[in-house]
Amino acid sequence: MTEAKLISTLNEENLSHFSKTYVPSRLLLGPGPSNAHPEVLNALSLNPIGHLDEAYISLMSDVQQLLRYTWQCSNRLTLPMSGTGSAAMEASIANFIEEGEKILIAKKGYFGDRLVDMATRYKAALSVIEKPWGEAFSYEEIKYEIETKKPAIFAIVHAETSSGVLQPLDGIGDICKKNNCLFLVDAVTSLGALELLIDEWNIDLAYSCSQKGLSCPPGLSPFTMNNRAEDKLSSRKTKVPNWYLDLSLLNKYWGSDRVYHHTAPVNMNFAIREGLRLIANEGLENVWKRHNTNAKKLWSGLESLGMELHVSKDYRLPTLTTVKIPPAVDGDGFRNHLLRNFGIEIGNGLGELSGKVWRIGLMGYNSSEDNVDRLLNLFDTELKKYSIFESSTF
Ligand SMILES: *Cc1c(COP(=O)(O)O)cnc(C)c1O
Repeated sequence: MTEAKLISTLNEENLSHFSKTYVPSRLLLGPGPSNAHPEVLNALSLNPIGHLDEAYISLMSDVQQLLRYTWQCSNRLTLPMSGTGSAAMEASIANFIEEGEKILIAKKGYFGDRLVDMATRYKAALSVIEKPWGEAFSYEEIKYEIETKKPAIFAIVHAETSSGVLQPLDGIGDICKKNNCLFLVDAVTSLGALELLIDEWNIDLAYSCSQKGLSCPPGLSPFTMNNRAEDKLSSRKTKVPNWYLDLSLLNKYWGSDRVYHHTAPVNMNFAIREGLRLIANEGLENVWKRHNTNAKKLWSGLESLGMELHVSKDYRLPTLTTVKIPPAVDGDGFRNHLLRNFGIEIGNGLGELSGKVWRIGLMGYNSSEDNVDRLLNLFDTELKKYSIFESSTF
């Protein structure tokens, strides 16, 4: 046998540099990920078992049952997709759009743009209505657009993490139903944190993620679809053009048969079972109340420090607050200071709000009174150090 020649990208010096994996401890109060609950981390660290093991199959059923409770729905096809929130977002588009299908997207921020991008890639006949980042659509506007454009699918983001807007969804499901249109909701930053009633609100399709309201690391994206959506899927003329996210194939694993499609990320499913169990134990209404109470405390605290919030009270999103960076403050400087010296992450604005707002997340396990107090104290004592005027030399 000839001696194998390895190319060495590791020399002795940097090889010894690699100690065991270490990550600093952080409090994640940005737009996500949020910290995982300690019990979730315990579940995550269990040794994997086979994805067709009967013990795992029973765990899958638990996850589905707990998800139905958290979504407040009775949908048969309720499952966590493998991948982050964008995976289930893409599944919602890939499975329900055939070339030339009419979709209406109401966009008011970055994630609406992502839906538009995906719908374009799957060759939808696209209509877009738009609002400035920081505003929401009214019921009347949406009703008018659906009735005049007659789309096959209407898509909207419930909690816009880029702008800090909570979109009221009352009555929209009924309009969609009357107009034979599927109602698709991005609930990435609302599931497990804010009032969301899939069945009662006539939402046909919805998706979320594991790392925001569910106190898990990123890696899974809960998804649910009702019978109307199932009918639409089974009447497709062409194959779903994405193998990994094809719901008719995933149905064989997560539906009744439990046959192999792809190797499930089993540890992430241990984790999400635990995150969902904690929500069920606390009670969904208590979870919603906790998120609302802590957000209100944050808002009034920031305002009493003289800060201004970007979104009006009527549409303000409890899980993600956009606060204006005061004109004389070095926004990145302050954010980096919080991270480096206090281990606390808050987010910069995204897209057109970059440099104009900070984004403060209070999601899942991290929505606590202690975290709000800690952050408000730091705004009180540290922010003045980042005033451009104060640090200049005149
Ligand atoms: C985070 C987020 C997503 C994308 O989820 P990823 O987990 O980053 O793929 C989609 N929509 C909204 C509203 C989000 O906040």
